[in-house]
Amino acid sequence: MERLKAQAIRWGTECYTEDVLAVDLSQRPFTVRADEREIKTHSLIIATGATAKRLGLPCENQFWSHGISACAICDGASPIFHGQDLAVIGGGDSAAEEAVYLTKYGSHVHLLVRRDTLRASKAMQDRVLANPRITVHWNTEALDVFGSGKYMEGLKLRNLQTGAVTDLAVKGLFYAIGHTPNTQLFQGQLDLDEVGYLVVKPGTVETSLEGVYAAGDVQDHEYRQAITAAGTGCMAAMAAERWLSSHHLIAEHHQKPADEIQPQTQPKAQSPGLIPENAFDLSQARHRGGYALRRLFHESDRVLMVKYVSPTCGPCKQLQPILNKVIDEYETQIHLWNWTSPKTRNWPVRRGLWGRQRCNSSKIRKCSQK
Ligand code: NDP
Repeated sequence: MERLKAQAIRWGTECYTEDVLAVDLSQRPFTVRADEREIKTHSLIIATGATAKRLGLPCENQFWSHGISACAICDGASPIFHGQDLAVIGGGDSAAEEAVYLTKYGSHVHLLVRRDTLRASKAMQDRVLANPRITVHWNTEALDVFGSGKYMEGLKLRNLQTGAVTDLAVKGLFYAIGHTPNTQLFQGQLDLDEVGYLVVKPGTVETSLEGVYAAGDVQDHEYRQAITAAGTGCMAAMAAERWLSSHHLIAEHHQKPADEIQPQTQPKAQSPGLIPENAFDLSQARHRGGYALRRLFHESDRVLMVKYVSPTCGPCKQLQPILNKVIDEYETQIHLWNWTSPKTRNWPVRRGLWGRQRCNSSKIRKCSQK
């Protein structure tokens, strides 16, 4: 990924890791408003993906990635599933396909279907029903996942007709209950199908608006693989380039010789500024500035979380919304002290094309996973 990014930057791409808040496609050039900037653009490639649906079982978060997954194709070959009994929830083509796929790794696959029929195509149904290593549990819903250690050990099931509750010993649970495309930003502006996927013209990546292209899972509910997404990404890039050229809007970028390439200019760090002492309020969750830290250190009876990251670190920025959610959730039990200083620019940098600064993103990632 880093090398792909470096190649793009060498050809003039500017990368910003930010949340896009709003998009206005009603007039050209289009407007893309993000956390920290607004961008005007003549052409737009949308690759916002789709999010796998979850059931929200009581212990789902505890065993997520420790037995529970939303993608059998991605995770099924993991050693933790080898030779084990596994379960798939869903009755559509994905569930049927994943159940068949998992028989290559697991010893037996239990397909849990909430109705007495499968939604999957007839051909997929036949493959499932004819496979002796798949058992279909009709009219069955999962109530919870259980396990005494780090990994899940089974499922609590309820038969929706009889009400009987039983345990099923399985070491893996795969959700195949559909995806939600991330297209909220484009509702009312581009054609979406009944589920919410962006509609593209057959065999192309063109959306309903000229100059706007869609790549990856946001327009593909069928294949959803990294390689197919990358393929449509390439198609979108070429289509956008052609469209800009044909409208005389293209800005040519000539690559500099390797010895002239400068490390990417770091965006300006936000200066924390001087926080007036009388602005300190212990009842608030979020704080900045040295004075606040001293007061929190001595006076806070809550967990004190110090966010100490480099302002130019991409992974840190990606974690920002997760951290924000954690802080929102524990607002009354936590004090967050936020540190971002331009001084970090003088820290030792890793050697690389655009020298990244040291940061604590790996530590944060571990915390956020917990
Ligand atoms: P679908 O929406 O088709 O199926 C989702 C399944 O999950 C349904 O059986 C649904 O049950 C079940 N479900 C939904 N919510 C729950 C819940 N809370 N508890 C239990 N079960 C639930 O999604 P797919 O991902 O399977 O398929 C999406 C599209 O992609 C389809 O058009 C499909 O044909 C296509 N596809 C094609 C493939 C192929 O041709 N090889 C492979 C994969 C996908 P219910 O039926 O009761 O509503």
